[in-house]
Amino acid sequence: MPKDAIVFVDEAYAEFSGVSLIPELERLPNVVVGRTFSKAFGLAGLRIGAITGHPDALEPIRLAVPVYSVNIAAVVAVQAALQDLAYMEQYKAEVEESKTRLYAACDRLGLRYWKSAANFVLVNAGERAERLAHGAAARGIYVRNRSKEPGREGCLRVGAGVVAHTERCIDVFEEVLCGAE
Ligand SMILES: *Cc1c(COP(=O)(O)O)cnc(C)c1O
Repeated sequence: MPKDAIVFVDEAYAEFSGVSLIPELERLPNVVVGRTFSKAFGLAGLRIGAITGHPDALEPIRLAVPVYSVNIAAVVAVQAALQDLAYMEQYKAEVEESKTRLYAACDRLGLRYWKSAANFVLVNAGERAERLAHGAAARGIYVRNRSKEPGREGCLRVGAGVVAHTERCIDVFEEVLCGAE
């Protein structure tokens, strides 16, 4: 670990993975951990998160952050979110169930995938990627088409959130890949 540099660890998906460096920060004075309310708490777009680290590491950041950097709508939303952690736990459970169902669907459809610690899954549809992405979009299901990106040929990033949405996504995948032309 470089001694004269600050290392930023992005924990945007930590609620889903259950893994965090925060308990170790006491012995890592040059590490700063970033968390967001955009993912597990469903507050994307409100631009609210938190950083945690040794006071010496945080001080220069504190000096650089403008006053009023957090907007009032975000403050109200975070207070409400923190008073309803059961909602976040419920969403986490839905994500786990969605991933399980998506993996099973990929196995049935002969699609490779990487097990995910987040709320999305990278699926390798190979030659079928374009057809799957376009066919799904035409049916109202949007997946991120990564198939043209270096190292991710044939890959789609599929969201795995609310189970009812995942079920619809799986139905559409089956229709596009197995349905009669
Ligand atoms: C979502 C996300 C963030 C934080 O997003 P904000 O909406 O700006 O809080 C940070 N890193 C990664 C990798 C993310 O996916």
